[in-house]
Formats: sequence, structure tokens, C-alpha cells
Amino acid sequence: MSRVYNFSAGPAVLPEEVLREAADEMLDYKGSGMSVMEMSHRSKTYDNIIKEAEADLRELMNIPDNYKVLFLQGGASQQFAMIPMNLMKNKVADYIVTGQWAKKAYQEAQLYGKANKIASSEDKTFSYIPDCSDLSISEDADYVYICENNTIYGTKFKTLPNTKGKTLVADVSSCFLSEPVDVTKYGVIYGGVQKNIGPAGVVIVIIREDLITEDVLPGTPTMLKYKIHADNDSLYNTPPAYGIYICGKVFKWIKKMGGLQAMKEHNEKKAKILYDFLDESKLFKGTVRKEDRSLMNVPFVTGNEELDAKFVKEATAAGFVNLKGHRTVGGMRASIYNAMPIEGVEKLVAFMRKFEAENA
Ligand SMILES: *Cc1c(COP(=O)(O)O)cnc(C)c1O
Repeated sequence: MSRVYNFSAGPAVLPEEVLREAADEMLDYKGSGMSVMEMSHRSKTYDNIIKEAEADLRELMNIPDNYKVLFLQGGASQQFAMIPMNLMKNKVADYIVTGQWAKKAYQEAQLYGKANKIASSEDKTFSYIPDCSDLSISEDADYVYICENNTIYGTKFKTLPNTKGKTLVADVSSCFLSEPVDVTKYGVIYGGVQKNIGPAGVVIVIIREDLITEDVLPGTPTMLKYKIHADNDSLYNTPPAYGIYICGKVFKWIKKMGGLQAMKEHNEKKAKILYDFLDESKLFKGTVRKEDRSLMNVPFVTGNEELDAKFVKEATAAGFVNLKGHRTVGGMRASIYNAMPIEGVEKLVAFMRKFEAENA
């Protein structure tokens, strides 16, 4: 068996320890005689798995009691609709558009009400985060929406927007559990888990209780109401049971690593190795304004498409895979999520140095 260094943006690298543990438990989960995949979601055994996962996540993120944690399906993209359907009481919401995912959310919201684009960084290919300290927030906005870490472009909000008292809703798919977060600043924090937490198929929604009501847009399907999932502890219907089990293992792994503060230090150290190299390199360049750089997704280019392609090809052959940039941006992107070991980044940089010397 040989494992590669996987720089995929998602689905992405998971802790090897978690994968080994899951493999050990594959045929017989703790004496149950079956895999978690084969188990009733109404069983006592499974109930313990989902309850423990929630408790560990609450502990890691220090989630206050007046927030619900929901394990749902449909990916982050389904939340683009669920959020307006459940939260747009006045049928008005403000969107800050800092990339493709925020743009998709903004476009989806237009199906349900008046979505205002109150700021954007599209003028410079989403390579920065706009100043959000004094935006014209709509008087009757039900919420202000951001994508906190822009997976494709490699930017991150270092300070949250001033929402002038309005509820903040954030897509944190690609920075979930990468550093400590003050949950009380948000009405809703959500993300697909396949970037930094677990297998595709689970989306986690952390939502303040007063935002969960029966008062949703007419015609909202039962499955798209936060209330039905909250009232049933994410077991209204069959949840993505195996995926939640793996998420639970990742939560335990993060706890063992020292929690979110330790994760942040680990991630800063890794990102610094790569960014420092990009800043000194004569061949490779980062594409993002320095102060807005993501700790998780690092896009870079040589400025020559043929050379980019050559780099990706040679890197792949050397065991550094999924470095090709998003189809809308080109170049390269290294996603260095929690589970990417520091050696992975050190070895990638050594490889980049060698490539630079050979192609000078
Ligand atoms: C990947 C991603 C999405 C889309 O997730 P799906 O689960 O495929 O719907 C949305 N937002 C962000 C920030 C992402 O990185």
C-alpha cells in the first residue's frame, strides 16, 4: 500500500488514523457483529454514535446551548435554498459575493426573494476580500450572507463583516474546524463536511434556536425545514449514518490533537511554509492579496500555462496529487486541510524548488 500526498480541494485528505480505525471496525463495530453501514439508525448503538459526534463537536467549537447542531444531506449547495426558504421572513437578504460559491448562493436566493449583492470582489477575479466594515446593509434584510473561506480562490475573511445587527449566515465548508470560532457571532454556520471533516454526503448546520420556526416560505418541502430536523435530533428520516460516524472519529482526532487552537497553529505553520516559498520564488506566484490569504486553499501560478501543466504532471508522478487549479482559475491549487501533515507541505515545497531550478 502506498499513500500519496493528496492536495484535493474536496473530497479531500482525511487523517490516516481515522481511516485505519474505520477499517478495523468495518466488519464488526464494537461487538455488534455488523458494520455501522448495516445498522439501524434507530438502534441504541447508532444513537450513541450520533450523540457522541454532536457532543464532541459542541465541545470543540464551544457551541452555546441555544444553538442546534443538525446533520443533514444535500451538500452545501442545498443550503443555498434552505437558508432563504427558512430565514427570509421579509423576503430580503444581503449577499457578499467573494467567489463562485457565494455567487451560487446569491443566485439561488433570488428564487425566493430579493437578494442584494452588497459587496463583491469579482472585479479582480475574487482575489481579495472587500472591505466590509461599513456596507449599506438593507434595513429589512433577514440576514447577511458570506462564504467565509473561498475554496476556489483561496481567500478568507479575517474579520467578519459588520452586519449592523443583522443575522450573519456563513458557509464555512472549507475552513470548518481549522481554527477557533466564536459561534455567538453567527445566526447560522454551515458546511459540507467533505473538505475538512469527513466523507461527502453530510452537511452540518449550526443554527441559533430563535431562527428555527414554522414560519417558512409557503411550499417549503418538509425535508427542507430546519424545524423538522431540529425537533427530531437529525433523525427525522435516515441520516447519512456512515458519514456521520466518520465525522465523529475526526472530531475525536481533533480533540486528541489539542482542539481548534492547536489546529490553527498547525495550519498556520503549514501555510507559512508554502506562502513564504511563493513570496521568494522567481517562478511560482500566489494569486491572492496577502492579507486575505486562506490557511486552507493556496492557489498559485507560474504565469505560463504550459509550464503549469508540466508542473502538475511531474508533481503527480512524484506523489503530489490533485494540484491542478480549479477549471475557472487555471494554474495550481494546494489544499492543505487539517489532515495534511506538515511533511506533505515541506516535501511539496522541496519539489517546487527543484522544479524551479530545473526550469529556470
Ligand atoms: C465545496 C463547496 C461547496 C459545495 O459543496 P457541495 O457539498 O458539493 O454542495 C459550497 N461552498 C463551499 C465554500 C465549498 O467549498
